[in-house]
Amino acid sequence: MAEGILIVLSGPSGVGKGTVGKVLAAEKEDMFFSISMTTRPPRVGEEDGSSYFFVGEEQFIRKIEENSFLEWARVYGHYYGTPRDKVLNSLKSGVDVLLEIDTQGAKMIKNNFPQGVFVFLVPTSLKELKHRITGRGTESPEKVQERFTAASLEIIEAKEYDYLVVNDFPERAAQEILHIIRAEQLKVKRNNNIIEILRGDGCIQCP
Ligand code: 5GP
Repeated sequence: MAEGILIVLSGPSGVGKGTVGKVLAAEKEDMFFSISMTTRPPRVGEEDGSSYFFVGEEQFIRKIEENSFLEWARVYGHYYGTPRDKVLNSLKSGVDVLLEIDTQGAKMIKNNFPQGVFVFLVPTSLKELKHRITGRGTESPEKVQERFTAASLEIIEAKEYDYLVVNDFPERAAQEILHIIRAEQLKVKRNNNIIEILRGDGCIQCP
């Protein structure tokens, strides 16, 4: 059985990764959406085990020491990490996995999983991005400024990714990501088993 594809989705704060992720989840029910662990306090409406697993710093650091994360990073003063086992088990059993993580974490993944597919989501403009970060109303003015400054810098990191998707509308951006996944599934390097089966199926003068 072919391994699942690991899709890493990054993009600046406020670009709408969560919303695009929700559309994707509805469209592709057979994909595993990893739920990260974080020390950030929950925002209004965020449920433990649904948006994130919310834990204290002590517990997070213990998990780092136990090597429980596939990657982890400190973002805006809080720890965030991807629990390792569920992701690896899903990939092994042929299930595609989506990680929605920051650029530091994506770098860590790229070092360990060069076969991963790295997608960067950008806004239509920085003005639009600031509007979205402010409009969320979940952060103080200082935090908004901090996130906006970091977001502007983060966009430069897009160069390290395989695909760039503009989030003008979440439904369209999600469709683009589904096309990327499909194209990746069809790559020859992911389908060598089919070639081998055909070769063994009476191929004439095959070396
Ligand atoms: P937020 O606090 O807005 O939910 O997320 C802040 C940033 O942390 C976002 O860029 C988000 O993609 C990133 N993030 C969420 N989960 C993880 C994770 O498990 N690992 C890493 N490296 N970044 C994460």
